[in-house]
Amino acid sequence: MQLLSRGDTGPAVAEVRAALEALGLLEPADAAHSVFDAALFDSALEDAVRAFQQNRGLITDGVVGTATYRALRDARWSLGDRMLCLQTTNMMTGDDVFALQERLLELGYDSGRADGAFGRQTEQALRSFQRDYGMAPDGICGPRTLRHLGYLGRKVTGGRPGLLREQERLHKAGPRLSGKRIVIDPGHGGSHPGGAVGDVTEAGLVSDIARRLEGRMSAAGMEALLSHGPQDCPTDAERAGFANSAGADVVLSLHIDANPSPAANGLAAFHFGTGTGATSTVGEALAGYIHRELLARTRMTDCGVHPRPWELLRLTRMPAVRVEIGYLTNDSDRHRLLDPAFRDVVAEGILVAVKRLYLLGQNDKPTGTFTFSDILQREEGSPIGA
Ligand SMILES: [Zn+2]
Repeated sequence: MQLLSRGDTGPAVAEVRAALEALGLLEPADAAHSVFDAALFDSALEDAVRAFQQNRGLITDGVVGTATYRALRDARWSLGDRMLCLQTTNMMTGDDVFALQERLLELGYDSGRADGAFGRQTEQALRSFQRDYGMAPDGICGPRTLRHLGYLGRKVTGGRPGLLREQERLHKAGPRLSGKRIVIDPGHGGSHPGGAVGDVTEAGLVSDIARRLEGRMSAAGMEALLSHGPQDCPTDAERAGFANSAGADVVLSLHIDANPSPAANGLAAFHFGTGTGATSTVGEALAGYIHRELLARTRMTDCGVHPRPWELLRLTRMPAVRVEIGYLTNDSDRHRLLDPAFRDVVAEGILVAVKRLYLLGQNDKPTGTFTFSDILQREEGSPIGA
């Protein structure tokens, strides 16, 4: 779709305005408001778009692109507005589906990660719920099912099964790296270089770091798969699909940020989370390990660890982390990234962070001190420091 931003006019702008008004983020237009005013993207509308983006965990640029537009459309629906069921050709998505999934999860029915899309697992969870509560298990969420979901009252529960299952799997996985399957996802690629300063591109640098990481992982006995070759740039949904069909244990998405301000610099990590409660705890733990290892090893500026509902993080069925390794537009960050030794340090830090995840905090060494040879030695079975 075409991007909408301040100064734009037309029916699409009016639609965005109406959606934000319905969400209470924008004062409803009074009678004096002409059709022309409603179709103008003014500064009040821009503020409302930013507020919406912020509480949805989207990039708060005040511009309506595909992700914001989709989130606005999904936000129109609240549970009970329409019947919900599995549609194989055109999957139903929206905040109502999200609310249903959260409700089922709270009640102990595993509808998978609450992602706002009514898929097969949501249908199965709904059918089980219906069966248990004496309804025809038709997998359709209509008035009767809603009434039952409402009648039951809010139960206090220990957490969300989909995300708890990630923890369970992690505990069962054991501390060894050998045999773990990791998807390394270099951002962008092919004709989409991502950020670029002169000849230096984000895609070029992250694919180099990805290869360094892949080499170390293979040496440690892991199965490292790249989500795509250097000539291709799959969509985030395709990257997630690749990781899902590969049955990966973990997905690592590598990016380098860019900003109009050359002063912006530093390191940030992201894991799945909606900002309204659902968070991948394993993803968060891994994002934290990567973040801390890289900060300790590189002394880059700390830009934090954040939950985001981005497609790659949301659609992957395993813990996924996206890391923004500095800013290409910052002279200091860029010069460091251009040094192959620095890229080795980054690759090693990420590998160590994955190892820490599987160690579950046991037999640990201080952040920033674990080396690649420590890891190889451990994989061979000789305990460190014993
Ligand atoms: Zn990027």
